[in-house]
Amino acid sequence: MTAESYASSVVCPASYSSLWSDFQSLCSCAGRLAGSASEAQAIAFARQRLAAVPDVQVREDHVDYPGWRCRNVQLTHAVTGAALPCTPLLGTASTSGLVAEVLDLGLGRHDDFNRHANDIAGRIVMVRHEYPFTPSHVHRRVKLALAQEMRASGFLIAYPEPDAGPVSGSSGRNGGPGIPALGIAAQAADALRPLPGGALASACMLVESEDFPARAPMLIADLPGQGDEWVVVSAHIDGHPHGESAIDNATGVAVALALAHLLAPHVSACPRGLRLCLFSAEEWGLVGSRLWLERMGASARRAMVLNINLDSVAGASGLTALTSGFAALDAWVKQTLSRAGLPIATYLPLMANSDHANFAAQGIPALRLIAGFNQPRSNLRFLLTAADTRDKVAPDDLAAALAVAMTLTWSALSAKSASVWTA
Ligand SMILES: [Zn+2]
Repeated sequence: MTAESYASSVVCPASYSSLWSDFQSLCSCAGRLAGSASEAQAIAFARQRLAAVPDVQVREDHVDYPGWRCRNVQLTHAVTGAALPCTPLLGTASTSGLVAEVLDLGLGRHDDFNRHANDIAGRIVMVRHEYPFTPSHVHRRVKLALAQEMRASGFLIAYPEPDAGPVSGSSGRNGGPGIPALGIAAQAADALRPLPGGALASACMLVESEDFPARAPMLIADLPGQGDEWVVVSAHIDGHPHGESAIDNATGVAVALALAHLLAPHVSACPRGLRLCLFSAEEWGLVGSRLWLERMGASARRAMVLNINLDSVAGASGLTALTSGFAALDAWVKQTLSRAGLPIATYLPLMANSDHANFAAQGIPALRLIAGFNQPRSNLRFLLTAADTRDKVAPDDLAAALAVAMTLTWSALSAKSASVWTA
């Protein structure tokens, strides 16, 4: 069966009702911070759903990574004593109480830091969170690194809109040196702006947290094909402490589970097998999948000939494939989907914003499917906040993501040779 006829015969919005119920069930586990009871509940659910797939081999691979937990966090205005809504960036450095002036660097682009290079040492730097899915945005960890290099004493990153609460995200510290770093709400940024007359406001930061050796479970489900090669479909199951981590990434996990159920009866006849990876610790600077890949033997890595990473695949109409610099893969995606009547946009330069980047770093052709690329007003702007909830996802958009993911995956499984996307 061709990829196109298969996809059209199996995937229509009504063809797989479990897609929507699985999505709801994952959201009902709440934010799924790695290592939390919420994440454990989601993994148990996914494991049970995978166990119902015929002929599947499911296992849990564990990776040890630098864990971190926070017992107490506070941000207060040093003059008024008002408590300001905040959340610790994942893995942030601790402080038993830091009082300093707050230097507002606006967006916190390189130019903003350079213009104030002599004002930063010893102060708390405040910047804005940017919509992460445009080619031109500057990532939180770049801004934090600049603040550290210029010897800021603390770091605040503000969500730009009211009503979504503080923005979460990884500090990327991974047990190393760092400065205390908090995500804050728009109201907190307003409260910490310079006073009339230009005097800087001061804030007090308290972060009581500890590093500890953590272990993340990677749920791996193999459906073998005729040969030794694997097409890897991945999605990260972990999320953030607030909201439901619905778009990011209950959408990707639900589509991955649906793919396994729909393709299971057909994979054994294919030239290569389907490996489903539900990764954890993605939200910790992509550490989970990186360590999983690094500790694997070279031949096992070589057998994985393609990674299709599903991360935030609904929440806006229209998908983009981020094709990680692999030109032949980019062309194959365009050709395969336009033949199936499901054309999507592609973006060739590597965007190291999810687990596909770790496959690409190992030389494995890798893409990320994402909704809302270059659509800063789409619901994907709520990622990393308490507003990333199930009501931001339209059932038709999730079904459309399944159709695209199914077409690509089936086409890759059934192709005579992997050279069609590697040549
Ligand atoms: Zn994600």
